[in-house]
Amino acid sequence: RRETKPTTQQLIDRILEGNMTALSRAITLIESTNKTHSLQAHDIIKGCLPHANKSIRIGITGVPGVGKSTFIESFGTFLSKSGKKIAVLAIDPSSSITKGSILGDKTRMEDLVKDTNVYIRPSPSGESLGGVARKTRETIILCEAAGFDTILIETVGVGQSETAVHSMVDFFLLLKLAGAGDELQGIKRGIIEMADSIAINKADGDNLKAAKIAKVEFNRALHLYPEKDSAWQPKVVLCSALHNEGIDTVWETINTYVNQTQSNGYFEKRRQEQNKFWLIETIKDHLHADFFNNDVIKKALKLQLGLIEAQKTTPFAAADYLLHLKTDL
Ligand code: GDP
Repeated sequence: RRETKPTTQQLIDRILEGNMTALSRAITLIESTNKTHSLQAHDIIKGCLPHANKSIRIGITGVPGVGKSTFIESFGTFLSKSGKKIAVLAIDPSSSITKGSILGDKTRMEDLVKDTNVYIRPSPSGESLGGVARKTRETIILCEAAGFDTILIETVGVGQSETAVHSMVDFFLLLKLAGAGDELQGIKRGIIEMADSIAINKADGDNLKAAKIAKVEFNRALHLYPEKDSAWQPKVVLCSALHNEGIDTVWETINTYVNQTQSNGYFEKRRQEQNKFWLIETIKDHLHADFFNNDVIKKALKLQLGLIEAQKTTPFAAADYLLHLKTDL
């Protein structure tokens, strides 16, 4: 018996009931490059939007091997036990090349996968960071409409993807390791500045002493940064994802942050700013795709690239020509 395809309205209704099959289907539509799918996805997002916005969105980053999967497994299980409904998403623009370096291998989160309070969705692949980020942001809306109250977004601590995640979350958690030589040398300044909390993971066994020292050093480093707009002083905590230690402290820290920023108005203000940012980003994204996917432009661009190589035009003249060509189409 063939299943009939659900209509857009049916999908919206089922998502609002918390149906995970419908949720997955809709996310697949968001991820699709097919025009009809995109239009349907657009309508679903619109239908879900009034029911979204009610979760706490948490970004989690750290270099490969720091323990992100292990942490999300422990943290997610902890949250689930305290009655939360958790969606785990990822932003990994490299996954098209590495075939899903994060969250691709779900066996790394054995317990979470089986947990009915948890929804795990790997990163959309085969796209630019901009495209992946927009799709993840739209996916957040659907997950919230489906009743997930805690959204975890994982990203690998390399490249620009942290900035993308930071621009769509309320709280940004950086996982670090102690004892990897000079703690503060290898850190990308920008990432430290984005962090609302640094959790030093693998603070167990022989590592514990180094972790405690690292905590002091990171705390000192964090105090050198100017005060954040949120008026929040980032906290350094120790944890062992493997042994389930310090996980509750991370959650307490996030709760304190949420309470503080909700009462001083920053929480709402930041979400507003993120919405404005995403409006501009989405326009840029569409203009970009609209231009570069246009067949006439594709052909003309190739010609202009040839002319540049032959030194018969300049990049600026060629750009001017192509932009006008598109406007006239
Ligand atoms: P990811 O690449 O950041 O997702 O890191 P994984 O979660 O895959 O962890 C990398 C390795 O570190 C695995 O072998 C984990 O078992 C180990 N690991 C993760 N968290 C801890 C921890 O808190 N303590 C110890 N000792 N090992 C850990």
